[in-house]
Amino acid sequence: MDNEQPSIARKMLISMNLANEKEQAGPGHETTIADIAVRELTPREYYRLPWSLTDNGISWLEVTDACNLTCEGCYRPHQDNHKSLEKIAEELKVFKQHRKSDCMSLAGGDPLVHPEIVEIVRMVREGGWKPVINTNGLALGPRLLAKLKQAGAAGFTFHIDTTQTRTDSKSDTEKGHNELRTKFARMVAAEGGMLCSFNQTVGIDTLEQVKDTVLWAQKHPDIVHTVVFILFRSPSLGGDFDYYANGDKVSIESNYDDSAWGGNSLLHAKDIVAKIREVDPAFAPSAYLSGTVDPDTTKWLIAARIANKLRGFGYVGPKFMEYVQHVHHLFRGTWLSYSTPKLTASGRSTTAIFSLLDPSVRAIGKRYLRSLWGDLKSIRNALHLQTFTIIQPADMMADGRVNMCDGCPDMTVHEGQLYWSCRLEEIKRYGCFVHAVPRRNKQQSQATVS
Ligand code: SF4
Repeated sequence: MDNEQPSIARKMLISMNLANEKEQAGPGHETTIADIAVRELTPREYYRLPWSLTDNGISWLEVTDACNLTCEGCYRPHQDNHKSLEKIAEELKVFKQHRKSDCMSLAGGDPLVHPEIVEIVRMVREGGWKPVINTNGLALGPRLLAKLKQAGAAGFTFHIDTTQTRTDSKSDTEKGHNELRTKFARMVAAEGGMLCSFNQTVGIDTLEQVKDTVLWAQKHPDIVHTVVFILFRSPSLGGDFDYYANGDKVSIESNYDDSAWGGNSLLHAKDIVAKIREVDPAFAPSAYLSGTVDPDTTKWLIAARIANKLRGFGYVGPKFMEYVQHVHHLFRGTWLSYSTPKLTASGRSTTAIFSLLDPSVRAIGKRYLRSLWGDLKSIRNALHLQTFTIIQPADMMADGRVNMCDGCPDMTVHEGQLYWSCRLEEIKRYGCFVHAVPRRNKQQSQATVS
C-alpha cells in the first residue's frame, strides 16, 4: 500500500465526521472513511480545466468502425468501414479549421486494424497533433510498435477490462488482467519515448475491483503514466423515458445496445473516489470538467500523484494543474492533455519548481526529503508524475436533458461538423440527436390536459 497519508487536519475532520455519523446513525451502523471522503468531493475546490469546443486538450479521430474484439458498452457498431486517407485528411482539415488541440486520439473501432494506420499516424503528427492510439492492443506487436513510433506516435491508451472476452488474457477479474497490462506497459517502455495509459470500464459489479487496478498501477509509476476509469452507461440504467427523433418516437436500444454487464445501478465519479480512498486515503483530485446541465457533476475528474517505484509522496493540488495548463498554452498555444514521458519522469525538478507555487507540491517535496533522510540510496529512484482520471459519461437528467461533458475532449468529425463521439450514432441514424421525454411527467401533463 502507498505511504501517502491524509494531513493531520484532514484526519481530525474525518474522525470528527465519523463520530457524528455514528451518533446519528445509531448502533450497528458502520461508517467508513470512504463514506466521509465521498461527501468531500467538492468540484469548486478543484481547478476547472479551461477546455472548450474550440480550444481543447484532445480531439477524437475515428479511423475505422472495424474491431477485432467486442466490448460491453461499446457505442459503435462494427462494420468493416475503414476511412480512406483522403477522408481522414478532410476530417483533419475540419479539426484544424474549428478546434485547437494538443493531442489527437486515434480511435474506432480499433485503429490498429486499419491497414494504413502507420500513414495515418504520420499525417496526424505532420498536422501538428500528438497522435495517441486508443486500442485493445490485440493487433500490437513490437514491429508495428516500432513503425508507429517512427511515424510519430506519442503514446497508447490500452482498453483492457472485464467487458471483453480476450484471447490473450482469459481472466474474468480486473486483477487477472494486470499481467497483460504490465506486458503492454513494458513493451511501450522498451520502445521508449511514448506514453502508456490504460482505460477500464467500471460497473457496479466491478466497482470493488478498482482497488486492484489502482494498487497495480501504483507499483509501476515509471511505465504506467495514466489510468482512466470510465463509468458504464446503458439505456436501461438511464431512467424511464420515451425517445423522439425528428418528431417520431424511436427506440433507443436500436442506437445503443443494452447490456446486463453494468448491473442494476448507476455509478458516479464520487463512487470511484471513495473506492480508491479505501486503498489510498490520500487520493486527491485536483482538476475537472463539469457537466453541460448539472454544474456539480465532475464529468472528467483528474488526480495526479508524484511517486517513485518504492512509494508515493502525495497528490498535486489545483494550482499545479492551473500553472501547467497555462504555461503550456502560453508557449505551445494549446491546453495540455497528455504530457511527454520526459515530463512525467522529471518528478524531482517538477516538485522543486512547483513547491514555490502549490502547497500540495510543497508537502510532497517535504515528504520526499524526509524519505531521503532515512534512505539516501533511494535518491537513485526517479520521481514520476502519474495520473488517474475518472470519466462519467452522458447522464440522463430527470427532466430528459442529457448532462454531457462541458468542454468535451472527445469531439469527432462527421460530414464536416463536430459532434460528441459518444452520441454520433444518433446523428448517423436520424441526422439529429434523440430527445428524451420522462414517461411519468408525460402522464402527469396528459392528466392535466384532460
Ligand atoms: S461528452 Fe461524450 S464523447 Fe465527450 S468526453 Fe463526455 S462521454 Fe466522451
